Amino acid sequence: MKIAFVSSEVYPFIKTGGLADVAYSLPKALRKLGHEVIVVLPYYKQIPEGLVKDAYWVSNVEIQAKTFWNYCLELEGVKYYLIEEALFSQRDSLYTNEDSDYQFAMFSEVTLQLLKSIQFQADIIHANDWHTGLIPFFLEQRHCHDPFYQQTKTIYTIHNLRFQGQFSSEAVRGLGYQFDDIGINYMQLGIQYAHKITTVSETYANEILTDFYGENLNHILKIRAQDLTGIVNGIDTELFNPTTDQALVSPYNVHTVQLKGENKLALQHRFGMEENTQIPLIGIVTRLDSQKGLDLIMCVLEEILYHNQVQFFLLGSGAEKYETFFQDIRNRYPHKFGVYIGYDAKLANLVYGASDMFLMPSLYEPCGLSQLIALRYGAVPIVRETGGLNDTVQSYNEETKEGNGFSFTNYNAHDMMYTIYRALNYYYNHQDEWQQLIQTGMNGDYSWDKSAKQYVKLYESI
Ligand code: ADP
Repeated sequence: MKIAFVSSEVYPFIKTGGLADVAYSLPKALRKLGHEVIVVLPYYKQIPEGLVKDAYWVSNVEIQAKTFWNYCLELEGVKYYLIEEALFSQRDSLYTNEDSDYQFAMFSEVTLQLLKSIQFQADIIHANDWHTGLIPFFLEQRHCHDPFYQQTKTIYTIHNLRFQGQFSSEAVRGLGYQFDDIGINYMQLGIQYAHKITTVSETYANEILTDFYGENLNHILKIRAQDLTGIVNGIDTELFNPTTDQALVSPYNVHTVQLKGENKLALQHRFGMEENTQIPLIGIVTRLDSQKGLDLIMCVLEEILYHNQVQFFLLGSGAEKYETFFQDIRNRYPHKFGVYIGYDAKLANLVYGASDMFLMPSLYEPCGLSQLIALRYGAVPIVRETGGLNDTVQSYNEETKEGNGFSFTNYNAHDMMYTIYRALNYYYNHQDEWQQLIQTGMNGDYSWDKSAKQYVKLYESI
């Protein structure tokens, strides 16, 4: 099959969240299964020049007196098409520009014209999140009458339902499309017009049909429930590999997992915490956003630190109230609590490599990649049972000895605290079972192989 994967962000070019990782790994996995895959993205100013120095010009697309220059670059068998115009290459921000509506309406329109200009007659156009929600709508309203697009079907994947692209419909009408309302919701149109809709875990696919998780689109989603499926994300197991990871002081594998202690010592030393491999270390790597359950952590963190022989390390950036809170805790518990405010991919890997446990008590979590990385690095996840966390972490069952982590159901700080205590109890008093948990986590398959096959099945079905 010929697949055009369209995404606003793609690792390693540009990344603000998990979408970029998926846009890198899934096309690569599809290609491994024998399909022809291209990836289309905007040529942002923020893309490091060194990464695109080999890109060559392929075509121009003219729309409304604007010329879009299209470049191509091949990496590991996948062709990346970058769309260049001042709309993208002269902006300081990715998503908070005054004319975001126009930027992404144009991105969608140019993408459809680009495919034609390079004669890539896609069987499937796979659009992602609100930025490309207009593609299925544009295709249906205008381009489906074009013989070039006769066979083309669309898939729309929701990576996070909260961000929908709600604007005035001016930009879309300005491109000559018919739209009666003054307001428009790009994600809603993706949901309404795509041939199939997916989201990034089965649990989230069910959750978004409810009022609590549905972000006011649950009624629209319900209409399309027959066409909605959940396919869990994988991680790039070459990029995230504790055996070869350069960010680790001491790489390790499932047989040498005691070497994690060396990474723990390095982290403790670097951030002025008590240097002791025996103290359990709980890692947190996250955007500092209310989605991630940080309010639960704020509620009980001090109580946990005060009463227990335990350490935490938090790496994150985002909302100021969280940044201030965690820096303040560090000042008061410097030996037990380490923090780094900022985005640092290398440090993130050291945290996964150093931690005994990984805390992720999200309010909602479409899929979550961090818990998968934690599992692979032998950091036992402690999560709330929501979205992809529910599908990838099985709470330890003392009867059957099955499970790869610990979890709790309600969005409640004390439920989280007692789940942390449950994990600490295994760490301190049941080392055999603790080691078993680590092994189960590290031996799990978090690669894209299985999920990519599920996408192929879905593509084939339409
Ligand atoms: P989301 O996409 O909602 O942010 P995911 O768990 O799907 O959450 O993906 C987050 C990814 O970003 C993980 O790979 C995580 O390690 C990484 N990450 C999050 N915050 C930071 C940070 N401050 N520094 C480095 N990496 C981070």
